[in-house]
Amino acid sequence: MQFSLGAMKTGTPAQEQEVIILGTGPAGLAAAVYAARADRKPLVLAGPDLGGQVALTYTVENYPGFPEGVGGGDLFSLFQKQAEKFGAVVDFSSAGEVDLSVRPFRILADSGEYRTKALIVATGASPRKLGVPGEESLLGRGVSYCATCDGAFFRGRNVLVVGGGDSALEEGIFLTRYASQVTIIHRRNALRAGPLLQARAQRNEKIRFLLETVVEEIQGGNGVQSVEVRNVSSGKKEILTAEGIFVFIGHDPNTSVFRGKIDMDPKGYIRVDDRMRTSVPGVFAAGEAADPVFRQIATSAGMGVAAAISADRWLEENG
Ligand code: NAP
Repeated sequence: MQFSLGAMKTGTPAQEQEVIILGTGPAGLAAAVYAARADRKPLVLAGPDLGGQVALTYTVENYPGFPEGVGGGDLFSLFQKQAEKFGAVVDFSSAGEVDLSVRPFRILADSGEYRTKALIVATGASPRKLGVPGEESLLGRGVSYCATCDGAFFRGRNVLVVGGGDSALEEGIFLTRYASQVTIIHRRNALRAGPLLQARAQRNEKIRFLLETVVEEIQGGNGVQSVEVRNVSSGKKEILTAEGIFVFIGHDPNTSVFRGKIDMDPKGYIRVDDRMRTSVPGVFAAGEAADPVFRQIATSAGMGVAAAISADRWLEENG
């Protein structure tokens, strides 16, 4: 999710809030439930990726309370419904500029200018790119970062999946609903994914693995036609024929608008203490924007809850 300035409205008076939450993933909406129940009337600026990554997940099997699993989009709708039930307002706009040097903080969004006493950053993370030739030019024409969104276009086709983590295997398994063959390409000879998913992928007859292999180039004209790969031990190059390539090689935090304003680690994850406090008093962070370690729906929601409780206490002491 990249927060962009978009078509910002100017000239209208800034709307004053007690709490603004950036992001509508599990962290943002869990924070919204708690901030709303604390009667802080939170405003949630949704950002460009409504619902965050969970909204793009076909089935979520590990969120507590759903023994049969739950659709990612359905889970997001439930989070939003619950937050709105208690008075949170979700504004479908993106924050483009944030000034944390003034009090209340100043936020410029597509929908106008806002001032807020406390801010919860739950801007999540976006898919990491391979950075190889053809990836950008063939995006949306065979190159994808979302199997749930694009999988159905590849019925009966050969597709490649890049990555060796849980996402690559889970999405690879999902793609076998449509594709005739799914080749999972991973740069090492051992997968990073958990044993359950590994076993499930290995049992699937449509899946084959190409280990110790990296993608060098994605080739095609109007759509992806082939992909050049290289074996990292032998150095041997090979052209694979495929009409789709799905990249699941991790995520980078969406924190660029806070660079130089809040303390971050070298990878751009916002540093928080055990109360989700950032280096700026009154600014809290939760979810994948501040979590390089766990990155689960449940942990993100938990961080959101903690951030909202901390923000409420901070407002009580400093309000
Ligand atoms: P991840 O665990 O960070 O795995 C990323 C994978 O991509 C790794 O195998 C990595 O290789 C590979 N990779 C990274 N950069 C690459 C590059 N430039 N070129 C080629 N390969 C590259 O990311 P994820 O799979 O998206 O998972 C993120 C988090 O969500 C994890 O904590 C995961 O457990 C969780 N998750 C859980 C589930 C589930 O429980 N059902 C489902 C999805 C995600 P190396 O292995 O060599 O580092």
